[in-house]
Amino acid sequence: MSNRRGSPYSTHVAGELNEARPYAAWTGSDRIGNRVLSTLTVILKTGGCSWNRCRMCSYRHVRLGAAGEGELARLLLAQVSWLKDRFPMDNIDCVKIYTSGSFFDPVEVPGAARDAIGSLVRGKIVIAETRPEFVVTDRVASFREIIDDGSHDLPLYVAIGLETSNDFIREKCINKGFSWDDFLLASKAARSAGAGVKTYLLAKPPFLTERESIEDVVSSINALRGIADMISLNPCSVQKGTELEYYWKRGEFRPPYLWSILSILLRAERHILCDPLSGGRTRGAHNCGTCDRTILQGIRDYSLSGDRGLLEALLGMDCTCKKEWEFVLENERPYCMPLTR
Ligand code: SF4
Ligand SMILES: [Zn+2]
Repeated sequence: MSNRRGSPYSTHVAGELNEARPYAAWTGSDRIGNRVLSTLTVILKTGGCSWNRCRMCSYRHVRLGAAGEGELARLLLAQVSWLKDRFPMDNIDCVKIYTSGSFFDPVEVPGAARDAIGSLVRGKIVIAETRPEFVVTDRVASFREIIDDGSHDLPLYVAIGLETSNDFIREKCINKGFSWDDFLLASKAARSAGAGVKTYLLAKPPFLTERESIEDVVSSINALRGIADMISLNPCSVQKGTELEYYWKRGEFRPPYLWSILSILLRAERHILCDPLSGGRTRGAHNCGTCDRTILQGIRDYSLSGDRGLLEALLGMDCTCKKEWEFVLENERPYCMPLTR
């Protein structure tokens, strides 16, 4: 799962304590292709992420302690009927499905539950998040067949938390456990299954300077040309109970400046989705506290409208913290790990 949650346009229903409900579900709007569509976002409670090791991730702690496949399927089917009762599908164009790991991992989401979810969202554009190793052509194709009623050219997108196109950064800074080549293979498998590809990139993982991270995201966006149909930028936030939180508490990590996020979005040659989690707070992408609200709203507006003029106007704004950001870009030095003991 990537670093993503919530929206200012949403109505939010959280169900953390009740296993018969998803972890959260809300309606909102998203730009998909060149259109703004009404969306339902669902975070299902599942068996949990099989990788379970990324340095910044707390979602991996959300898992049902179900005994076996049958019990897990039963709990997931209960979440499907909860959704059916509360969210009439007539007004929804697109459903985004997250788990606390990978929707296409059969251990995390048993096939029977996956099929039931597919029947519920038939006729919608579906975006389902997964790690690349679970993008198996037959599995994805059979899900696509369930949801596809002929309404959309591309009814399904697999969404992969690539984080960066740089294998070294993905391994050392994030501990993600897969490579660029694994991602490429998964993208090919998705295409063979008749699905598109959405990719999440992470701005400012631990151990990178502000400038290094900006350059990393920009080069990742370029590397995804012709591969990803959609890119979503996630500014790294400090989640509870993570290794990243440990560094942050010791003053060894600062989430990215909102100035950096603006400059990445403006340098990108294509539209990038972005809705900073915990934006404006010390645990999320933030500036000085005075200009945060305006910039965050602008980033969210841009995410929907694609209006680059808005980004230019925001980046042209002045605030005392802009000088601070420029100083950081010039003077921050990389995290230095000794090579010997
Ligand atoms: S793959 Fe990593 S980021 Fe995704 S849920 Fe698992 S531990 Fe978290
Ligand atoms: Zn400011």
